[in-house]
Amino acid sequence: MFSGKTSALIQQGERYLRKKAGKVLYVKPAIDERYSKSEIVTHSGIKVDATVMPSFGLIYTVGEYDIILIDEVQFFEKTILEDIKALLRKGKIVHVAGLDMDFKGEPFEITTYLMGIADEVNKFRAVCEECGEDATFSYKMKDNGERIDVGGAESYSPRCRKCFNKINKG
Ligand code: ZN
Repeated sequence: MFSGKTSALIQQGERYLRKKAGKVLYVKPAIDERYSKSEIVTHSGIKVDATVMPSFGLIYTVGEYDIILIDEVQFFEKTILEDIKALLRKGKIVHVAGLDMDFKGEPFEITTYLMGIADEVNKFRAVCEECGEDATFSYKMKDNGERIDVGGAESYSPRCRKCFNKINKG
């Protein structure tokens, strides 16, 4: 979070549009209603129209689109993986943005799987709010034990490994 991955996803979409590479569809999970139900919005307020989708049926929805850009992919059910593979088999271009780890530092299986089958993986770094180093962890300020828990700056705070370890020692 706060690493710029959604901004990068939107930039990719804009590149495809400029290249006239085909019809572009942005997709976000139905669970992610932090900022908007029908737009993907970055933390800095950049937005694009998006199709809100439950975890199933992606493959049936994208017929006319050539390029599918999916945000917050870790919030979908695992059936999204079969959908994405089917899209790739059909020759569609698929980009996803998502968190690689939950607030406990455990990998999100969906993201891990997609990193395995992807042609290219970019890891983005946030800035640790404790010390200013590069941050890969999301510290959950009010831990309610929920793994799938959409939240913004009021719920999560980026941490580097060292500061994350300090919180989670023992
Ligand atoms: Zn730190």
